[in-house]
Amino acid sequence: MSRSVQLRILRAGWCQHLACMADRGGRLAPAQFPALCGLIRHPEHGWILYDTGYAEHFFHATRQLPERLYRSAVPVQLPAAQQLSAQLHALGLSVADIRYVIISHFHADHIAGLRDFSNARFIALEADYRHLEGLRGQRWRATLGGHLPGLLPEDFSARLQLADASARCTLPGWMAPFEHGLDLFGDASLIGVPLPGHSTGQLGLFIPDAQGRPAFLVADACWSAPACRAGRLPAAPALWFASAERRQYTRTYHALGQLLCREPALAVLPSHCTQAWEAFINER
Ligand SMILES: [Zn+2]
Repeated sequence: MSRSVQLRILRAGWCQHLACMADRGGRLAPAQFPALCGLIRHPEHGWILYDTGYAEHFFHATRQLPERLYRSAVPVQLPAAQQLSAQLHALGLSVADIRYVIISHFHADHIAGLRDFSNARFIALEADYRHLEGLRGQRWRATLGGHLPGLLPEDFSARLQLADASARCTLPGWMAPFEHGLDLFGDASLIGVPLPGHSTGQLGLFIPDAQGRPAFLVADACWSAPACRAGRLPAAPALWFASAERRQYTRTYHALGQLLCREPALAVLPSHCTQAWEAFINER
């Protein structure tokens, strides 16, 4: 039996990029890409985050070369009111209330706030974590790939729970071509769905019952839901950044496109898509 969870989407900062980065049919003009994260309330496990977006730690981690190149290439804005701690406070919560952070993947725009959640356990796929660990000491290579290993808390590995160890489950038939997931809490409420390509072990999150409707948080499997629905890939140079493994990225992208076309009742929420985020807010 699935248990109803509450889902709220928060924006923790944004960066500036060309619109065509997300959609090759888009304009060659700068656009804002929000760094979205999911704030989830589980009936038994309490408050859970899916990613953290940007945080002050990002600016600290990018003050020197080569890491500073990241900040120069992708200008980031984090108004005080968009810091997760401030948003949690406005909701009557504190960073100490977050019990788990489910990590989609280890790019800096998804994990910059991990150090703020000292009471949380972390859930991620092993492949992505191993990849990040393999980049320690290789600052140029890490930075060029969007990774800043210094964002991890010192005790990260002790608090990490590998999603791979969760029970494998079958997704509902209407989620095809996605067939299998990982039952992260053993109660069918939050299902991790591997979305390989953008990173080796990118982890999406399927919520069968988020206040009465299904939602699918898909991180960077696509950057624009409308473009993905229409089968338009990101612009060619952006594909290089979008995919650690190009063929897998494209396969995951088109699988998601099929689902978007066929299941309009499913809230598909990429991490950087303003349209999908606004649609989700307006439907609630
Ligand atoms: Zn991202």
